[in-house]
Amino acid sequence: MAKYRINIAIDGHSSAGKSSMAKALAKELNYVYVDTGAMYRGVTLFAMKERIVLNGVVDEQALESALDRLFLTFRFNPNTECSEMYLGGVNIEKEIRSMEVAKNVSLVAKIPAVRDKLVAKQRRMAEGNGIVMDGRDIGTVVLPNAELKFFMTADPEVRAWRRLSELQANGKNVTYNEVLENVLSRDRIDSERAVAPLKQAKDAIVIDNSNLTMEEQYEFMLNITKKRMEEV
Ligand code: C5P
Repeated sequence: MAKYRINIAIDGHSSAGKSSMAKALAKELNYVYVDTGAMYRGVTLFAMKERIVLNGVVDEQALESALDRLFLTFRFNPNTECSEMYLGGVNIEKEIRSMEVAKNVSLVAKIPAVRDKLVAKQRRMAEGNGIVMDGRDIGTVVLPNAELKFFMTADPEVRAWRRLSELQANGKNVTYNEVLENVLSRDRIDSERAVAPLKQAKDAIVIDNSNLTMEEQYEFMLNITKKRMEEV
């Protein structure tokens, strides 16, 4: 057993299955899971509601000044045993998973003022340790000293099929091509942005799960985690 609770950073490409693994690890270790993508999706929904994002264009200045009015919180839902995202007291967990939000989120996430606000919040959440946090810049920027870092990826087509079946299971009417295009465009914008781009931390363990089942991947990650916990 570890002498203390560690922090685990999980980064990677869109729809690489980060959140399923992060959730499962957090549950097993009795750690807190933080889905930072949900936070960026929450800001995006807020900006869409305020009409600061219109037709794929973000009014950066307007968003910056509106950030003072943004109140995002996670609340634990005992029925689903998951944390859900709230905007100003309203549950937005379902809304933030829509294709409309997915189409705009990378544009909002590249704005430095948005990142500053969310990164500060994410670091505060991790202060007490015992966190499994997933996103794009967790191992590189948010928690560079995390004791364990994973970087997850898979072929874009595999990721698009997985995301499509998830969306369809939730009753969303989308096509494979629409999902693939969104996955590719988010990867591109996330990797090319000036601030905190998506990239592997030097000390991250890379997992390409294109040909792995969820179970195989989970076993692999859990074993590495246990080993790391012995070392610290
Ligand atoms: O993880 P998820 O796919 O829900 O993330 C949605 C978007 O939020 C990403 O495509 C990316 O633009 C942004 N994001 C980010 N930094 C993070 C987490 C998510 O820029 N740490």
